[in-house]
Amino acid sequence: MLSTPSLEAKKVQPNMKIGRVLVVEDEDLIRETIALTLSEEGYEVLTAVDGRSALEIIQTTIGKGNALPRSFPSAAQESAKLDLIILDLMLPYVNGLDLCRLVRREGNSIPILMLSAKGTETDRVVGLEVGADDYLTKPFGMRELVARCRALLRRHQQFQSSTQAPTLKFQDITVFPQECRVTVRGEEVNFSPKEFKLLELFMSHTKRVWSREQLLERIWGPDFIGDSKTVDVHIRWLREKLEIDPSNPEYLVTVRGFGYRFG
Ligand code: CA
Repeated sequence: MLSTPSLEAKKVQPNMKIGRVLVVEDEDLIRETIALTLSEEGYEVLTAVDGRSALEIIQTTIGKGNALPRSFPSAAQESAKLDLIILDLMLPYVNGLDLCRLVRREGNSIPILMLSAKGTETDRVVGLEVGADDYLTKPFGMRELVARCRALLRRHQQFQSSTQAPTLKFQDITVFPQECRVTVRGEEVNFSPKEFKLLELFMSHTKRVWSREQLLERIWGPDFIGDSKTVDVHIRWLREKLEIDPSNPEYLVTVRGFGYRFG
């Protein structure tokens, strides 16, 4: 029923995988067409024919495996990580809305593209309300589906890279931006939000000299009403937490006539 002439020509190297997609759709033709199209585009594709088997695959990726008995062990092995879920709304056993809700309840932010035969505004709204990122109404063209998938993955990757700030390390000071945590000489030290943001900024640009005005602008924002003494006060607090001898700082140094420098 489906022709595969271009599959060989577009065959992608295993290490060129651009994303792993789970396609959940009970209509065979649609599921297979989507799977084929996405494979041709270079995606690795997993498929599920109903809500229950989809749940099996999803649970192995988000760590909760107790809601339903495991009957698809091979799927569990295969689905170490998913990048996108394409989810039909009406499915046997567990419908798309419930699956979507479940994924979000676990705090997983994987992009979800919902498919539906119905096209009413209500369905769309409900789909988005339970946490779908986008919505396609059947019938749809494969080109549009691919475009939506690409956009969702791109947006998600941008979001991930903006939220997954790397650990910052300078000598014996380590900042964990995502956990809002700092260790100084191996000891956990508490920082106020402003102190933390300052330290994060300094450690992201070691050796760079910052004027008080620049620091005010970056940390307190352009609308801040107050003077640059605020910066000096925070620098003093930072030194008390970072320096062995705060009156003789080694990390957070004053650059006379200019401002402050870290490192
Ligand atoms: Ca269906």
